[in-house]
Amino acid sequence: MLTRTLLLAALCASATPALADTIYVRAGRLIDPEAGKVLDHRLIRVENGRVVAVTADAPVPADAQVIDWSGYTVLPGLIDMHVHLADVDQSENVAEPLLHSAMEIAYIGARNARTTLMAGFTTVHNVGNFRAYADVELRNAIARGDVIGPRISAVGAYVTIPGGGGEVTGFAPDVEVPADMRAGVVADAADTTRKVNALFQHGADSIKLIATGAVLAQGTEPGQQELSEDEMRAAVEVAKARGSWVTAHAHGAQGIKAAMRAGVKAIEHASLIDDEGIAMAKAKGVWLDMDIYDGDYIADYGRAHHWPADMLRKNDETTQAQRDGFAKAVKAGVKLSFGTDAGVYPHGLNARQFKYMVRYGMTPMQAIQAATTVSADLLGWSKDVGALSPGHYADMIAVRGDPLADISVLEHVEHVIKGGDLVK
Ligand SMILES: [Zn+2]
Repeated sequence: MLTRTLLLAALCASATPALADTIYVRAGRLIDPEAGKVLDHRLIRVENGRVVAVTADAPVPADAQVIDWSGYTVLPGLIDMHVHLADVDQSENVAEPLLHSAMEIAYIGARNARTTLMAGFTTVHNVGNFRAYADVELRNAIARGDVIGPRISAVGAYVTIPGGGGEVTGFAPDVEVPADMRAGVVADAADTTRKVNALFQHGADSIKLIATGAVLAQGTEPGQQELSEDEMRAAVEVAKARGSWVTAHAHGAQGIKAAMRAGVKAIEHASLIDDEGIAMAKAKGVWLDMDIYDGDYIADYGRAHHWPADMLRKNDETTQAQRDGFAKAVKAGVKLSFGTDAGVYPHGLNARQFKYMVRYGMTPMQAIQAATTVSADLLGWSKDVGALSPGHYADMIAVRGDPLADISVLEHVEHVIKGGDLVK
């Protein structure tokens, strides 16, 4: 702990004070997403990186280490279930990933991890990178304390059909793509079993399927199913046997339902989901992870920077439909996690999605729960993250103002503690 804290202090330009193993955090106001309540004047006691008590504010021992957030609203560290830290940001060139070495991607990943943590996101589900295992290595480097970033649940690579939404596209037919960009490209169900086993063998925490075409991959259509239901079921069976789970990128209504029938735990995007799909998600307890902010970013930035016309068309075809589907899913009581697809737009702007979630039907507390307790449940990490009751990691953030009155204050996180270390 001491070593890690010192290392952290050395890595942070604005050196953080070395913290003793017991610290107290005074919270002016504490948002408790487990109870759906707000409590004034709380004292959070942290030992060895975990919360051990949350009480009414009270005197502390004279020599105690205290972080005084009495002028702030305090929340558990936020969770983003859909980020791509270990890749180049989206650009007008769909073949852009071929212009960067694996080594460069590692440094880019370290930068993006730091940016994400500073924005208040202390846990992320990193759902794919073109260089296989870039996310696994980043996760391990953060866990060792070599670089700072959020806790990462990694998928290793995209599981996709050849030329599908999880492949690098947009290059000449005689260009040979590096092998580490094809670790998750599958030919059939048997091949899916082999490749998914390999992903776990090399450190994946869970599996990411590309069930349909994608907005930002050339020659694929979001409405079209890509992986077959049999291939998806093969992946789910391997994951279940290993005590893990599967999430599926799926825009089109048929692909969404096929993925749910195959047994996935979550659907990402769900842009063109129909009423039957919403009912199925509700009945099966499948989480929908809908990135309802980034369509606006792609439309504005993409147009200004002359992104390919088919990308902008596909974005237009999915943006409003997805928001309408989200509003229906909120009304239907479907489990909705918080996932943004950061990487499609700049990392660190993740919290911009909150106001869209409120605009399309959630209460501010529901939106906060989506990014804390609900996402922690989906990860299977609810004993460790997503709340500040005793036993959880001391991952917390401080904002000025009241996010329940104005959810956009979460876009301006002033302070961050991760595992008891003040990192911002
Ligand atoms: Zn994505």
